[in-house]
Amino acid sequence: MLNKKSVDDINVKGLKVLVRCDFNVPMVDGKITDENRLVAALPTIKKLIADGGKVILCSHMGKPKGEPKPELSLAPVAARLSELLGQEVKFAADATVVGENAKAAVAAMNDGDVVLLENTRYRKEETKNGEEFSKELASLCDVFVNDAFGTAHRAHCSNVGVTEYVDTAAVGYLMQKEIDFLGNAVNNPERPFVAILGGSKVSSKISVIENLLEKVDTLIIGGGMAYTFAKALGGSVGNSLLEEDYCEYALNMLKKAEEKGVKLLLPIDNVIADDFSNDANTQIVGTGAIPDGWEGLDIGPKTAALYAETVKTAKTVVWNGPMGCFEMPNFAAGTEAVAKALAETDAVTIIGGGDSAAAVNQLGYGDKMTHISTGGGASLEFLEGKELPGVAAANDK
Ligand code: AMP
Repeated sequence: MLNKKSVDDINVKGLKVLVRCDFNVPMVDGKITDENRLVAALPTIKKLIADGGKVILCSHMGKPKGEPKPELSLAPVAARLSELLGQEVKFAADATVVGENAKAAVAAMNDGDVVLLENTRYRKEETKNGEEFSKELASLCDVFVNDAFGTAHRAHCSNVGVTEYVDTAAVGYLMQKEIDFLGNAVNNPERPFVAILGGSKVSSKISVIENLLEKVDTLIIGGGMAYTFAKALGGSVGNSLLEEDYCEYALNMLKKAEEKGVKLLLPIDNVIADDFSNDANTQIVGTGAIPDGWEGLDIGPKTAALYAETVKTAKTVVWNGPMGCFEMPNFAAGTEAVAKALAETDAVTIIGGGDSAAAVNQLGYGDKMTHISTGGGASLEFLEGKELPGVAAANDK
């Protein structure tokens, strides 16, 4: 059980609090095109303002590769955050992040003021967890709060290194929610516990499959990786995505599931196409019966119904990865059916970031889910049972 010190457990009155946020928002021509991440960060920031802290915000944006890139400046974020908070967010425009502007802005702060530092990845040490930049960041503050889950699987200066030079490192509300659901609910779920895994390749989900087999009652497999299982079981998969090298592994997983009494469900039918294109000719065939020249691009309707029925029996459901090539509307039905089933159940529903989160939000089911993770890579590593450096670095309660 992860039990980290949170912003509810610290007293920041009069203290300088450095908050690592995830303000990595999409921008076009200096305009923010999706401000969800800014809105999501507000509860932690407001709490620290209300408690009388001097709130110093920092984040990365894109990949400037260790040098200042004006198009990746956080200046537009400061402007928009000022509007969202209804108070000035002073932007410290330093190419070195912790430079003269940042130091002067912090020195001039009153309780409840907010300052935003420049893009932490303007410094090349950031992604290498270098000591000097970590110390510089720590020198600005008394207390550190990490609310950036999307980078929690990386050890960088602004989420891990800095914690070595401060007395208190706590987590914000966003991080706390990720820990509660992805960490604790997955490790101590209300049963039956069903996990749904999709996406392109078996090879990239091996650790997730292995870890979840230890915990779930039912494991549902869809997406491109299902064809490696179909081939391993002696079926023909045509031109479908196939990782020949992983067929033996797939058989081992089936055996392991049986030994553990875990129900492992594979597709029973598939939507196949004669080209990797939304305009391709399509037909529905049983699993393992895909003719040469055709490829499976979605689970079929019988599979979608089976998976939706299985979701209904669950008390906890975790979903990571689409059931097919959902980016093409003609191959999105399987992913949509799973999203709908999750939206309709009363079970605890946890969406593990990336494509599944995008699909759920696009379909308008976002507010029907118990938790949608904000971090693709980080949520996958949580599901693999790994310790995330950004989480581990926060103090225990
Ligand atoms: P991943 O990053 O491994 O979670 O995979 C997500 C990608 O898998 C999406 O872009 C899907 O289009 C792709 N995908 C899902 N099902 C299939 C399939 N049957 N064939 C090829 N790609 C697929």
